Amino acid sequence: MKIHEYQARDLLSSYNIPVPSGRVITSIEDAAPAFKEASAGMANPLVVIKGQVHAGGRGKAGFVKLVKTAADAEAAARFMLTNRMKSPQTPPEGLEVKKLLVAQAADIAPRATGGAEEFYLAITTDRATRKNILIASREGGVEIEEVAHTRPEAIFKVPLHPLVGLQGHQAREVAFKLGFPAKLVNQAADIMTKLAKLYVEKDCTLAEINPLIIAQTGSGQQVMAIDAKFSFDENGLFRHKDIAALADLTEENPAEIKAQKLGLSYIALDGNIGCLVNGAGLAMATMDIVKIHGGEPANFLDVGGGATEEAVTEAFQIILSDSKCKGVLVNIFGGIMRCDVIAQGIVNAAQKLGFKVPLVVRLEGTNVEAGRKLLENARAQIPTMQAATDLTDAAKKICAAVG
Ligand code: GDP
Ligand code: MN
Repeated sequence: MKIHEYQARDLLSSYNIPVPSGRVITSIEDAAPAFKEASAGMANPLVVIKGQVHAGGRGKAGFVKLVKTAADAEAAARFMLTNRMKSPQTPPEGLEVKKLLVAQAADIAPRATGGAEEFYLAITTDRATRKNILIASREGGVEIEEVAHTRPEAIFKVPLHPLVGLQGHQAREVAFKLGFPAKLVNQAADIMTKLAKLYVEKDCTLAEINPLIIAQTGSGQQVMAIDAKFSFDENGLFRHKDIAALADLTEENPAEIKAQKLGLSYIALDGNIGCLVNGAGLAMATMDIVKIHGGEPANFLDVGGGATEEAVTEAFQIILSDSKCKGVLVNIFGGIMRCDVIAQGIVNAAQKLGFKVPLVVRLEGTNVEAGRKLLENARAQIPTMQAATDLTDAAKKICAAVG
């Protein structure tokens, strides 16, 4: 689960990581008053307007704007609320922006070697070493992907001890390596320590600050976060009601949300073969074998062990509502899930929706005879259906059927 930047700032703030203050607006008319609020007391008003979407690359797309007047704030808000945000991290058609963050702009200190004092800082889990890892770079900001690609040596990676987490000496060493001036090393190290703590306590899968900056403030220099991105492990959300409440369902794939409500796991993919499967392991094997035979899965739909006939029918509805789906492969190994329940779900779906695309069914396991009989009797209603003897046969048939 992802959250918006403004929510990420609140979360950082709750761990005493410094962030500039701001507020969220949803209409163009609110831009001028929000600008006045953010710039109150500033001798030279400078405010930043930022589109809130679950994707990065906003700066380059024109969805992060520094403004000096209320009129410019309004113009920036108009642009962002009436254009879709397109970046390498969005679908080609872009994303609609419904909320804007209007915040005090930070005065980023210039770097002696050129550019500005922008750093990259993240904690994530490294699957290769099976440890949490701190990732940091002096080359933060909008070019970090490019840096990772062309100069990987400019990115530091520090594995964290599974029990004791990030150690003070590790954090200070990273802060020195990043080139923080001596008097700011402790501030930077402190932010790293807090971020690592937050990562574990909130069951994150990613906690990223980019950029972490050195800001010039009235009372000297301060290290602070001006953009952050978080992802959370959905399996941990039951114990984080506060985090779960931050979900913005309008930013998620509607089919995935619908499936979630029905207790189904559905992940939309880019191919054209819909896969209805029970169990994540079997889903993986099914997708592998489809690919081996030259096909591309359109989705991953796992009905799990206890799905009802209604849920199975809904599962087909979800798969068939994807216009990219040119054929459906049903691969069920009935254990707790009964094959006759699946078969009845197929028959119901055929009656309710009609299968216009080819359907290949491979059933095995609990109540398989009853399931096969149900399908046999309904054959006239499902002309595009073929039965398969095993998984290889099923994969070959569906790949041939969609071409
Ligand atoms: P992203 O492009 O979606 O990652 O959005 P960011 O919030 O990271 O902003 C992109 C870039 O805009 C940053 O790397 C900064 O260079 C610049 N920027 C963002 N906010 C501020 C600010 O408050 N002050 C200044 N001076 N620059 C900012
Ligand atoms: Mn950023």
